[in-house]
Amino acid sequence: MAIKIKEIKYPELTFFEKMYFPQIFGGLWITLKHLLGFNQITIQYPEEVKELPPNYRGLHVMPGDDEGEIRCVACKLCEVACPTQAISIVAEAADDYGIERRPKVYNIDFMRCVFCGFCVEACPCDALRMGMKYELAAYSRAGLVHTKEVFFNPNVKSDAPRDNANFLYEMQKGEIIDKFDIVERVKELDGKYMPK
Ligand code: SF4
Ligand code: SF4
Repeated sequence: MAIKIKEIKYPELTFFEKMYFPQIFGGLWITLKHLLGFNQITIQYPEEVKELPPNYRGLHVMPGDDEGEIRCVACKLCEVACPTQAISIVAEAADDYGIERRPKVYNIDFMRCVFCGFCVEACPCDALRMGMKYELAAYSRAGLVHTKEVFFNPNVKSDAPRDNANFLYEMQKGEIIDKFDIVERVKELDGKYMPK
């Protein structure tokens, strides 16, 4: 089979383009505009803090409920959803305040986290949100593993029902598959737990 050769002709430069002066002066004009402060795109960080869009995905926040308690019920859905396995949870019994479990340990390793937000999407009871903070520095690797005490902010409120997570936890144990009244109750709750 014969080899086909396709010849590509590069466009000819005009006389002015060959001199390069228009491009050089154009570049200098852009630099001068930034230098004189028109079209300023830099800020004096950290004195000035950049205004972030509302959907910014920064460091995680755990909202509080009406009693100022952590909302997480240690269902571990966020841990499963995390693509980088950055979340580690150790649960403990929590019969004392109306839910079955709560996190004894809740850590996110920010050396692994890619701020995708999947953990927030997976949470059935609005116990985790992406916050607006982006300052993340530490003197050691251990300092980049943040605990629930760092994430928890009782001033961020949520009235989302926690029953959803209890339901999923029970389903996982295979105990309430045929309890239709509970299934109907969770269907009623559906849609009321979207992050605000
Ligand atoms: S934001 Fe993404 S990578 Fe980070 S902890 Fe959540 S799921 Fe994992
Ligand atoms: S998904 Fe929500 S409730 Fe479940 S462990 Fe994660 S943060 Fe807690």
